[in-house]
Parts: sequence; structure tokens; C-alpha cells
Amino acid sequence: MPRDWDRELAALEALVRSYPEPSVNEIKSINGTPWSVLVSTIISLRTKDAVTLKSSINLLSLAGTPQDLMNLGEKKVAGLIYPAGFYNTKAANLIQIAHILIESHQGQVPPDKETLMSLPGVGLKTANLVLGVGFGIPALCVDIHVHRIANRRGWISSDKPDLTEKLLSDILPEKWWIPINRLLVSYGQIICTPVSPYCSTCPVNEDCPKIGVKKFR
Ligand code: SF4
Repeated sequence: MPRDWDRELAALEALVRSYPEPSVNEIKSINGTPWSVLVSTIISLRTKDAVTLKSSINLLSLAGTPQDLMNLGEKKVAGLIYPAGFYNTKAANLIQIAHILIESHQGQVPPDKETLMSLPGVGLKTANLVLGVGFGIPALCVDIHVHRIANRRGWISSDKPDLTEKLLSDILPEKWWIPINRLLVSYGQIICTPVSPYCSTCPVNEDCPKIGVKKFR
């Protein structure tokens, strides 16, 4: 029988509605430009959500455009996003990105995966989140939560997020490509946690194969 994605993901959607939004989605709600989504996604790499949110708000309050960010300079940008992980490297990348956008893209974030991935510090995950959350273009952003949960649920079998993106995009209806990231990030932070997930409170507990889960609560 084909998988009923609407039923399964709607159940998760109802559950996570009361959970805090992932930081990048919250930034999108506060300041909806693709530029703000790109900046906060870069800050979010290897950084806790609460820190990402604070650092993004700090920086975007003074750098609402690539030109504003260029004007701040690398040292000031690093100070504004501290203590985000790798804040010095991210500051250097953000300055370079701002420069490229001004020089080659009329100061705009390009709505194109390959062009986004040519920017320093931007990989597939970041490009897809910018396309999906920033532009509303269907793109499947597979981060550690999406990768882990998709494998545990047995939707796909993959040892790498990039492969998960490819396999999942073959089977998941396109209408879920953008929302699934927000759903599974929230879900992965609170219920289907990396170590010892809370299966007893999970709405799909009974039909979840729990692949690779050694211990659960
Ligand atoms: S039943 Fe457990 S392993 Fe399966 S999705 Fe729910 S929390 Fe994750």
C-alpha cells in the first residue's frame, strides 16, 4: 500500500504546532527577505537555535542588505554573531557573499540552487533552505534531524544527508518539500531526539520501525 504522507505528516504538523519554530523560520517570520534567511541559515550551522536567533537578530538589525553588511566589516560582523559556532569563519564568508551579491547579482540573493551553492560556506542544505523558506520554491532541506528521522521511519535508507535528499525527493510529494524541514527539526529537537527518543509519546510509535534506535523512552 502506498504511504499516506498527508495523514502521517499532518499528525506531526498538529503535534509540533505548539513547539518553538526553528530559528531560521522565526527569522523569516520577523524579517521575510531571502537575504535574512540566507544570513541566519549560515549562522545556524553547528549552532544552537537560541544562539542562532539572537545572533541573527543582532546582525540583521544592522545589516538588512548586503551593502549594510559590507559596511560593517568582518570584525564587527564576527562580534555581532558571537557566540555562534565558527563565528570568525562565518563572518568572513558573509562578507565575501555580500561582495559577490553586490558585484554579480545586483545586491540580490539569487533564487537558483547552483548559484547559491557557488557562494562561500553555502552547501546543499543551506541552498535548499534559502530556496524553500526564503523564496517559497519547492526544495528539500535535509539537515541532521530530517536525515535521522527519515532513516528511523524507514522512509529511505541512507548514510549521508545528501543521499537522503535525493532519495526522499523521489518519494515525498512536492507539496511537503518545504514544510517537512520545519516539522522534523521541531520534532527531532523534542520527540525523536538523537539519543533515546521519546517513542512513548510519539503519534507514530505503533507503526514506526525505529530503524537504528537502540534505546528509547
Ligand atoms: S516512534 Fe520513536 S523513532 Fe519512531 S519517529 Fe517516533 S520518536 Fe522517532
